[in-house]
Amino acid sequence: MANLHQYESQQLHTPGSIQPYGILFSLTEPDLRITHVSQNIQYFLGIKPQNLLNQPLKKLLNPSQLQNINQTLSQTTRINNSHQISLTTSAGTKEFHGIAHRLADTITVELEPKTVEESENLPDFFAWVSNALANLQKTSRLKEFLQLVASEVKNITQFDRVMVYQFDSQDAGEVVAEAKNENLYPYLGLHFPAPDIPPESRKLYLECRLRYIPDMTAPPIDILAAPDAAHSQTLDLTSVSLRSVESCCVEYHHNMGVAALLVISLIKDGKLWGLISCHNYTPKTLPYPVRVACDLLGQFASLELANKIAQEELDDKVKLQSLHSEVLEVMAKKENFKDALLSPELGLLKLANAQGAAISLDDEMVVVGNTPSQEAINQLIEWIEPQINDSLFYTDSISKLYPGAAFYKNVASGVLLLRISQTRRYYIIWFRPEVIQTVNWAGNPLESIQVGADGNLVMSPRKSFALWQETVRFVSKPWKNSELESAIEFRNAIIGLILTQADELAKLNQELERSNLELASFAFAASHDLKEPLRGIHNYSVFLLEDYTDVLDELGIERLQTLVRLTHRMESLIDVLLKYSRLGQAELNLETRNLNFLLEQVINVFNVSYSDHDLEIRVPRPLPIVRCDSVLISEVLSNLLSNAYKYNNKTEKWVEIGYLDPQAQVEKNWIDEVQALDAPPVFYVKDNGIGIRDRHQETIFRLFKRLHAQNKFGGGIGAGLTITKKIVERHGGLIWAESVYGDGTTFYFTLQSYSIKSN
Ligand code: ADP
Repeated sequence: MANLHQYESQQLHTPGSIQPYGILFSLTEPDLRITHVSQNIQYFLGIKPQNLLNQPLKKLLNPSQLQNINQTLSQTTRINNSHQISLTTSAGTKEFHGIAHRLADTITVELEPKTVEESENLPDFFAWVSNALANLQKTSRLKEFLQLVASEVKNITQFDRVMVYQFDSQDAGEVVAEAKNENLYPYLGLHFPAPDIPPESRKLYLECRLRYIPDMTAPPIDILAAPDAAHSQTLDLTSVSLRSVESCCVEYHHNMGVAALLVISLIKDGKLWGLISCHNYTPKTLPYPVRVACDLLGQFASLELANKIAQEELDDKVKLQSLHSEVLEVMAKKENFKDALLSPELGLLKLANAQGAAISLDDEMVVVGNTPSQEAINQLIEWIEPQINDSLFYTDSISKLYPGAAFYKNVASGVLLLRISQTRRYYIIWFRPEVIQTVNWAGNPLESIQVGADGNLVMSPRKSFALWQETVRFVSKPWKNSELESAIEFRNAIIGLILTQADELAKLNQELERSNLELASFAFAASHDLKEPLRGIHNYSVFLLEDYTDVLDELGIERLQTLVRLTHRMESLIDVLLKYSRLGQAELNLETRNLNFLLEQVINVFNVSYSDHDLEIRVPRPLPIVRCDSVLISEVLSNLLSNAYKYNNKTEKWVEIGYLDPQAQVEKNWIDEVQALDAPPVFYVKDNGIGIRDRHQETIFRLFKRLHAQNKFGGGIGAGLTITKKIVERHGGLIWAESVYGDGTTFYFTLQSYSIKSN
């Protein structure tokens, strides 16, 4: 096939010649003097063309025919502006279709002899066209409609093959419908690169809706011009049916073995949407009325096309909307949007008509369908992130922007990314493969080599297809507006869901806060009110023991002693509850305090309480000065110190009380260098005691939770650490334990807010 670009600059509408199946002449206005005439007038009418130049038209036509021509010119329609004209020639009277056009200041008349078939038994085209139009209205689907168009046109024209081409936004064509003789190889689904139909030809197709070439190889007939005629060389034949065939068109169709061609333009919104292209492998004459019928059908198809496309777009929207409701339903059932997004029943691929998708939520990622590797997706996101505009990024050829993506073109040439959160790394990405992977054609184009009428091999559109493939390498199907809108709506739905959940969480928190307060005041009131009757029970039990020992037997005395012990225990439980509930309510008395003084007092009290203790208390360096409630922090230190002693079975017991400065915290990998700039000190109380198993390191902070029986390790009632934690938290700080079971435990705490980085 020739390189068609070279024809682009040719003036296709002023070829200076016509096809031989009719006569053409041009006239001046208003005197209707002949300025141009085609050479073949001699063949049809036996008149030498030179003898007609500069002659009035009335030399050729009678007054009534002249009147017809004038009348035709006053109409604006271009096709079927014809009149029957009989002309007397030396060989007798001949019947012609006279078709007149006015273009700028020139009138051009075509005379096309009636065909024998037409003169003898012309079918009722009117009935036939209305029948075809009725058939075409049977479907609302665009694809079926175009197929019907192809079939109806094949029916009317009896051409060997009728195809409907659709042009994409880049002007490349695709055969979207086809009606053909059974023995022919299908072209359905084949694609053609844009240069196959040069812009100049497209312009002509737009201006002249029907192109008819009954014999591709017929030599063109020159047009003779009067020496003084305007446009002697550049007679505009745009709307002239007889216009001779462009050499590129001849060559192109010759390569495909096409001998006769009829092309009907499909126009939508003033633009060339596609073509109905009819091929015949031998020359073929189509009577003028058949072409008029085809033109009518083409116009109807163009009009209907817009309706069908609008209908399909509407259908698409409705489908996407119902998909959205399904998605929202799925999402609403989930506890949080993460679970919802990651749930397999979410029809994520359908939402954007993609073949692959990934959801990336911070460090988690789920992929569906065909996608690049997770590592590649992460790198891609990193690259896309700065290019995101309004939470959206999309392209139908990612590797043109980001060459690394060429490796996975088969799954991801098209990329559509949605950013869900401005603060978190939450993204949804859809992928589309390179378009070549998705193209469907009716057969293997490599096999579509055909034997021409002369027995020689002729080339099919295989080469065009290959060329087209080159143009769409690394390119996916484009993202339609409706698909982008769908993606954005999806994002809004997710954000809506996140907001609703956050709202619910806030409400829940409020509720919790309220019920916490209620609980605290209930605990306070209950424990306070319980103390009095408890004291009564205690006192009466003691009286009984003191005053009635002689009346009671041994068992009675033992039971009373248990009662006294239990009242003691109950009292200490109530005291703790009271203390705990007060802790939640009372204001902190914050002062700047030297912790060393506090610690000294705590150690003094400890020494008094456990006068025979053998605990070595180490303080490797002075503690810093901090803002705290000194009474409460003394209690923290006291609890931790006594636990270090109590839960220790070593012969040489020791405890170390100190703090870690920011650099030591970085070394422990709790914080990074930036966080270290304003990190608070982390205090610690470290012992060489019995240690705590990993699984208990959280539970020890729960109220009344003991790991040991009360009589072991001199343990208390399991409230010390709960109260310690509460005090630390009231200071805005954090407390946690590190322990090696059997080796010892370290409790760490801060008196300001603190977050340990996650590794
Ligand atoms: P209690 O007031 O009964 O000592 P705590 O709330 O202080 O209770 O401690 C809860 C549990 O945590 C204890 O029963 C003990 O088993 C464990 N525990 C507390 N401190 C230590 C420690 N330094 N070493 C080992 N175990 C400990």
